[in-house]
Amino acid sequence: MATKIIDVREYTVRAHKRQIHTRIFNFVCKECNQATKRETFGPRPLYCESCRPPQPPKKSVQASRKAKPRVMNYQSDINLG
Ligand SMILES: [Zn+2]
Repeated sequence: MATKIIDVREYTVRAHKRQIHTRIFNFVCKECNQATKRETFGPRPLYCESCRPPQPPKKSVQASRKAKPRVMNYQSDINLG
């Protein structure tokens, strides 16, 4: 099978809408140590809804939008184990 090296140009994905789904996580809250479950779009939550009630997005959301676009670089506070 013949092979050759080609140049692939960098490109950006245009803005688009995407449907995402929530997941329900069963986990133990780090604060009250109660087994609980929580529905979230993001990664596994650390705290139950009574310790960390869901809040509407605040100014920090706008601020983060001004940040430079980055390559997919996820940070998480997740500590497994
Ligand atoms: Zn809790």
